[in-house]
Amino acid sequence: MSECIFCKIVAGEIPAGVIRVSDRFIAFADVKPVAPGHVLIIPKQHFGTLLDIPDSWGAELLTFTKAVASSLLDKKLGDGFNVVMNNLEPAGQVVPHAHLHLIPRKDGDGLRFVTKV
Ligand code: 5GP
Ligand code: ZN
Repeated sequence: MSECIFCKIVAGEIPAGVIRVSDRFIAFADVKPVAPGHVLIIPKQHFGTLLDIPDSWGAELLTFTKAVASSLLDKKLGDGFNVVMNNLEPAGQVVPHAHLHLIPRKDGDGLRFVTKV
């Protein structure tokens, strides 16, 4: 998708702090982190929402997400983490390229909600 900002990140046309790459997924730093270490995980191919990601990609997505989350914990960016996914506009999805938010959490960090209310 030529106008999709995340497709441009995948193509290297827009810089992003890339954290990890697999065959089908890429993780990079959110440009407006709600907490230090806030990461986005996206499929390299353009899909709109979770519903569009092929079932057969599920195992790779789980493995990839666990690896990124583990590295956030290893780096002491958090003592826990949230995995959040906004799907479609009423749920707060702004960028129409499917993505998971990985948000490191610490006791008493004051974070309450990271999506549309
Ligand atoms: P959504 O509300 O769609 O679930 O979240 C989109 C996320 O993408 C937001 O947290 C926003 O900060 C992030 N974002 C939007 N544009 C860019 C960008 O150009 N680069 C990066 N790294 N993150 C972006
Ligand atoms: Zn895209």
